[in-house]
Amino acid sequence: MDTKLSLLTQLQHLGTAPCDETTPVAPVGLPSIRTSTVRFNTLEDLEATYRRKSKGERLVTYGRMGMETHAALETVFCQLEGGKRCFLASSGLGAIAMSLLSLLSAGDHMLVADCVYGPVRHLANTVLSRMNIEFTYVPAQSLDALQAQLKANTKVLYVESPGSLLFEMLDIPALAAFAKQHGLILVVDNTWGSGYAYQPLELGADVSVIAGTKYVGGHSDLMLGAVVAKDKALIERIDLNQYAMGYSVSADDAWLAIRGVRTLPIRMDQHARSALQVCRYFDDLPETRRVFHPAFEKDAGHALWKRDCTGSNGMLSIELALSDRQIRTFVNVLELFSIGYSWGGFESLIQWVDRPTLENHAYWSREDTQIIRLHIGLESVTDLVDDLDQALQKARAI
Ligand SMILES: *Cc1c(COP(=O)(O)O)cnc(C)c1O
Repeated sequence: MDTKLSLLTQLQHLGTAPCDETTPVAPVGLPSIRTSTVRFNTLEDLEATYRRKSKGERLVTYGRMGMETHAALETVFCQLEGGKRCFLASSGLGAIAMSLLSLLSAGDHMLVADCVYGPVRHLANTVLSRMNIEFTYVPAQSLDALQAQLKANTKVLYVESPGSLLFEMLDIPALAAFAKQHGLILVVDNTWGSGYAYQPLELGADVSVIAGTKYVGGHSDLMLGAVVAKDKALIERIDLNQYAMGYSVSADDAWLAIRGVRTLPIRMDQHARSALQVCRYFDDLPETRRVFHPAFEKDAGHALWKRDCTGSNGMLSIELALSDRQIRTFVNVLELFSIGYSWGGFESLIQWVDRPTLENHAYWSREDTQIIRLHIGLESVTDLVDDLDQALQKARAI
């Protein structure tokens, strides 16, 4: 597709069905092509397919990698991220595992930003450590801290920007320069930006990983992950490994993701506008110690956000001077915010971030404060603020 067209336009024209030569009509959207088996007319056709496949074409000889529905979704992720090739996974965590298991070998060491998505630690503590892969968590805002932990066998720098709980902005161009200088592969979890608000590959990263479960799907009804790269050698490496590990995504989930992604820019702009209003609401409260949302002017990462991002989303965290009992009341009496871990769907969510989770972070909250993480959904923001306000009044009354 013509890449000069705006993303909004591209997203409406990708993944449409070609016209049937005989009828000559087509449904607008590609159908969900479910298949395990692909059939060939002649042995010569089969052999020709293998020959073209060996030269790098995306041709299918068996259903595991998926047919047109999957190919269209892979193209979408490449357009979003500015990548050359995309590999799909059945979840975001599956995509993270695919990237790390493709890029690391026994005896290697990896530097990991301390603000990454929590389950990455589980992956490292179980699978990677069993494979004799070492890892060190570092506050990746500091190049000095990274430099201090660098080892002769360090191969990968794995980060997430902004961070998963407190949305710390990282300086991806500086991290990319650091990685290049030391021969490391820079892998970035870009679920926050989902290729719309942030493009790590354009900023110098080597691999971008997205949980399509979140904003790409956008409707809290599917699990999906994607690994996107643009360097030929890296693509070959990931290709061999993802094939070996048998990754496969359901055609229906790929179809749902294509349907969801058409409205990604519109949804994310709306999430972002409402989230900023919620930041302002909290900023005016006496209980608020700190607002974490890089698009908010007072956030510590705001300058980096302005320099590197093209948008924002509905995620924010707030540090509140409330007691444990008060925060429980606050969370429990909310009517429009469900208690839940995920984000990126149409609905508003709240998570009370417990202290053991925060202990992993460079930023340590004080004993008398609480951190809540909110996903601001597509409801009316006036209704959401009213709901937060009624809950806060009940919490204050305790
Ligand atoms: C949710 C999430 C993931 C994992 O995605 P799943 O599809 O739930 O496995 C990875 N990274 C970030 C930043 C996430 O928010």
